[in-house]
Amino acid sequence: MISPSPKDAAAVILLRPNTDPNNPEVFWVKRSTKLVFLGGYRAFPGGQREANDSEVSIANCADSEQAAMISCAARELFEEVGVLLARGSEALTVGQRISLLDDLESKRMSWPEMLRHYGLQLDMDDFAFVGRWVTPPFAPRRFDTWFFLAACPAKQEPRITADSELERGDWIAAGEGYSTWQRSEIIVVPPVLHALNTLAGGLTDDLVERFLSVPEARREPTRRIEFHPNYLCFPVRTPTRPPATHTNCYLIYTSREILVIDPGSPYEDEQQALAACVDNLIDGRRTVREIVLTHVHPDHIAGVNVLNDHLEERHGRRVLVAAHRLTGESLKGQVSVDRFIGDEDTIALEGEPSIKLRALYTPGHARGHLCFHDERTGALISGDNVVGFGSVLIDPPEGNMRDYLESLERMRALQHLPVLFGGHGPAIANPYEKIDEYIAHRLQREELILTAVCEGASTPKEILARAYTDVSPKLHALAERSILAHLEKLQADGEVTFVEGYRYTGN
Ligand SMILES: [Zn+2]
Repeated sequence: MISPSPKDAAAVILLRPNTDPNNPEVFWVKRSTKLVFLGGYRAFPGGQREANDSEVSIANCADSEQAAMISCAARELFEEVGVLLARGSEALTVGQRISLLDDLESKRMSWPEMLRHYGLQLDMDDFAFVGRWVTPPFAPRRFDTWFFLAACPAKQEPRITADSELERGDWIAAGEGYSTWQRSEIIVVPPVLHALNTLAGGLTDDLVERFLSVPEARREPTRRIEFHPNYLCFPVRTPTRPPATHTNCYLIYTSREILVIDPGSPYEDEQQALAACVDNLIDGRRTVREIVLTHVHPDHIAGVNVLNDHLEERHGRRVLVAAHRLTGESLKGQVSVDRFIGDEDTIALEGEPSIKLRALYTPGHARGHLCFHDERTGALISGDNVVGFGSVLIDPPEGNMRDYLESLERMRALQHLPVLFGGHGPAIANPYEKIDEYIAHRLQREELILTAVCEGASTPKEILARAYTDVSPKLHALAERSILAHLEKLQADGEVTFVEGYRYTGN
């Protein structure tokens, strides 16, 4: 399975006019929680390259690719927050800028036409290149994003435009932005975190060098992702269900201990990469407390034994493997589970910060499925119950739709739930919206299936033909499993009975 290839994109780290060089302020935005991709994340204005971005001439820029990306960055900045970073824009009134934006949004004028028509000139000197980051292959959408640092023109005030996908935008001191992440109050992707941290060091002469000092800023793969402090997401390549290609291993750490959740890769190179990351965290200061499994599926457990062999060889000690009893029983002969975790059991890590995880028994996707809720920050390790990429398969008898919906309701009922860390894909910064969407989707399917049964369809195949017209034939075998799960639930609910085929009971 090939991961989606990264698309060119650009983002602008906008500095406040005449900002304090020792404590610079930047304009950051919050992506709408309605967005499927990175909804609720903090970010910088930016977006994907468009075909005619390359038709704009950029003063002082000899490289055509860089020129196109500066054009893309300037256009996105204008479209999303109304700031027109072009020479000549100082002659425009606020009203004129609004009308230009309207021309652009309504497509009365293209971006290159607009710049030409009003005698506006983009200049490379206004856009300092500060890195190019590639989204890791675990995400449903991937970008090769060029970051530019730019000073906001003195007479322009950024404002979220009406049809942008953003919820809000604010000036914030970079150091304060970084602190809000440290306090687990926001979710950001690695390049944004790096930018806040770098700018927090002040607008020094070596600022650009500091931005480019990490290999990830030069298109090297990003492996360790800290969406949330002390929660390292380390996606490993696994033979998982397409379109996903990776399973997230989580390394939750304090000053003294590390908890490893779901080391799932069967591939040697990936197991080695994970072991190196764990060694790095251990670094003579921490010990691995145990390996915890959310559930039984191969793409979540395949690297357990190898990691434990590595810990023994390198650090002289194997660690306990902990999971739900049902998971332990199913894994007999493959992985020995040394400790069972039951509903409401807690795992309190030693050291700083204080991390106490409460286990939630949440079957449905798998019988022994566990989620883990961080009592202080509200973060939830959601396993495969809710994921950041792909859909969740409920495949009987391991899968059970009634249990699954109950588990989703239970997760939904948690009072403090700012972020979900799923088994696949990026962290979910809009958990309530996401869980609601999952529940609504299942109930809608159930409705269609029940209608099909009422209309006389009596086997999963017949139901498929009526109720799953939107699903590609390649996925029909899986869809039939899912229909069976729905039918079992409808039977348990008393709505459907099985007598030589599924029938509506009329209740
Ligand atoms: Zn699974």
